[in-house]
Amino acid sequence: MTDYVISVPPIPSLPVEGTDARFPVRRIICVGRNYGAHVREMGGDPKEQKPIFFTKPADAVVPPGGEVPYPSSTRNFHHELELVVALKGGGADLTPAQVPDLIFGYAAGVDLTRRDLQNEYKDKGQPWDASKGFDASAPIGVIRPAAEAGDPQGRLTLKVNGQIRQDAPLTDMILSVAEVIAEASKLWRLEGGDLIFTGTPEGVGPLQRGDRVEGEIEGVGSVAFTVS
Ligand code: MN
Repeated sequence: MTDYVISVPPIPSLPVEGTDARFPVRRIICVGRNYGAHVREMGGDPKEQKPIFFTKPADAVVPPGGEVPYPSSTRNFHHELELVVALKGGGADLTPAQVPDLIFGYAAGVDLTRRDLQNEYKDKGQPWDASKGFDASAPIGVIRPAAEAGDPQGRLTLKVNGQIRQDAPLTDMILSVAEVIAEASKLWRLEGGDLIFTGTPEGVGPLQRGDRVEGEIEGVGSVAFTVS
């Protein structure tokens, strides 16, 4: 046993369908610009602006039932519903064909974004960490094992206070799940415990205090929270 000079921080984790054992979160890697209609709604051209990768800290995860506080330092706090892939294994420089064996399961997650800060940082050519990797910026639902979920191909639907804001098929992705993970593995060595956010379709928009957010991915599961 190693002794530590302060108490050891808790390991962030998520519940898994069909078991009381939890999935331990090591890293969160996200892809941006992976749905053409979302690239266009952000003012870009999917032919010119390729998918890009960024990260969130592991403790940005909000497990089911948690509240999401409206974050500081923003006036334009956005939802992005995404398919999240939970890895049980990893590696570097993977090919897409190697990826399916590394997938533990899938969940619905929301890549919360301080859109005003993101736009400001983009304009100034500055790092956008604080616009994406802030506290409680990754609410995620129960993980569904791949044995149950299969290869998800259904629709993602996000409602705010019962009104549909995002509704698109997973098949609109530019890079497939396997391609996203293979590309990410060229930038970071992946390991079991990593979560991969695979991008959001069109319809992103602002949240206010008191909003009830409900996301659903066909064949995968749901994610829900209130902004406090
Ligand atoms: Mn996103």
